[in-house]
Amino acid sequence: MNKVEVNGLKKSFGDNEVLKGIDLTINEGEVVAVIGPSGSGKSTFLRCLNRLEDINGGSVIVNGTNIADPAVNINEARENIGMVFQHFNLFPHLSVRENITLAPVELKKMSQAEADRKAEALLSQVGLADKADTFPSSLSGGQKQRVAIARALAMDPDIMLFDEPTSALDPEMVGEVLNVMKDLAQNGMTMVVVTHEMGFAREMGDRVIFMDGGYIVEEGDPEVIFNNPQEARTKDFLDKVL
Ligand code: ADP
Ligand code: MG
Repeated sequence: MNKVEVNGLKKSFGDNEVLKGIDLTINEGEVVAVIGPSGSGKSTFLRCLNRLEDINGGSVIVNGTNIADPAVNINEARENIGMVFQHFNLFPHLSVRENITLAPVELKKMSQAEADRKAEALLSQVGLADKADTFPSSLSGGQKQRVAIARALAMDPDIMLFDEPTSALDPEMVGEVLNVMKDLAQNGMTMVVVTHEMGFAREMGDRVIFMDGGYIVEEGDPEVIFNNPQEARTKDFLDKVL
């Protein structure tokens, strides 16, 4: 089944056309790694997948619903789409547990007791069972990002979007976050991951998308993209980052 089907997606900021017609289909359980130079439109593309940006043209069908349609109840659609940002975006005034339970209680009308149990299970899953009552300020970057992943998972999403989830981390904390993401991928989560971690893209990506200048320039099997890229722009980029 197609989880995501993007056709002719366009997005401009003023007269700067940032996405110039993106076509992409993502299957259930697929892990898609998005790579490309800074400013190529990767974040904008990801944000269009849950309409954090207004969509100017084309369609973005997620779980069968065209979220580009202004008449769609976007909050309902977003409940199935988890997002993890580079800078964690945890609520600083809430405990780790409260960060995780807020959305299920408010949006899914889950009881606080059930949400608390779920938060504990998710914190174990991300290796932070002992941190439920601490506040974000006392956590390391890697721990914050794992809480952010647990928070996104608390809504039981069936798609997870990650925008450079490890770029703000000290190098020694990258692995702990990537390991949590690998677990998710191996358990069948559909994932779109914008990343600078070429190792992750290569190892975990079912497919790698190379974006440049608002287009998908090349996409394919990680081994092909990394070992035998077909497009000059892909080669140039990989020469710089590998
Ligand atoms: P990437 O994630 O690949 O680095 P982005 O999607 O963040 O690229 O940005 C692509 C282009 O869109 C850049 O030229 C950037 O300046 C522009 N852009 C992104 N967000 C905004 C915004 N909110 N307002 C105006 N321009 C933006
Ligand atoms: Mg970006």
